[in-house]
Amino acid sequence: MVIAVLAVQGAFAEHEQMLERLGVPYVELRKKEDLLQKYDGIILPGGESTVQGKLLKELDMFDTLKQQIENGIPVLATCAGLILLADKIENDEREYFKTLPVTVKRNAYGRQLGSFYTEQELTGIGVIPMTFIRAPYITDVGEGVEILAEENGHIVAVRGKNQLAMSFHPELDHDERIHKYFVDMISA
Ligand code: GLN
Repeated sequence: MVIAVLAVQGAFAEHEQMLERLGVPYVELRKKEDLLQKYDGIILPGGESTVQGKLLKELDMFDTLKQQIENGIPVLATCAGLILLADKIENDEREYFKTLPVTVKRNAYGRQLGSFYTEQELTGIGVIPMTFIRAPYITDVGEGVEILAEENGHIVAVRGKNQLAMSFHPELDHDERIHKYFVDMISA
């Protein structure tokens, strides 16, 4: 198994460290040719969705990545990655892959609650640490999307078929269970 980590901007190195700890080989997606490699899953890291979206288009990676996701490759998306997958961003006109039928709100916690830590239950795993950094949350889910976790009444983790997406940053805490869950999703 090889996992591809989108590495154009944001917190990709932390995901790579997680994969190293799990002993899972990975490749980086930095340019168009990298998308021709053989890999079994994709991680879309947190960062700045507007910057990532712009770079993916400029680097001519956008359409191929969208195609791979639509074709069913397993995807783990965190924070900005969730925004890239969302069908709709309720407070922004921009749109990206639109492969996951959810509506998200960017920077949904406002300025004061820009960053915070909590621990909540995630279906199928148990109570896990959740670090939020200027995070979005999900305000609506469409057909076929399972809600996996909520925080204070807000949806913060979902699974829609091949796509596992969350508002928070599991790569920043010392708990490998989300990445392990993703690896199991790929193996299944
Ligand atoms: N606020 C960022 C955005 O809108 C997401 C933040 C993050 O990925 N930590 O893209």
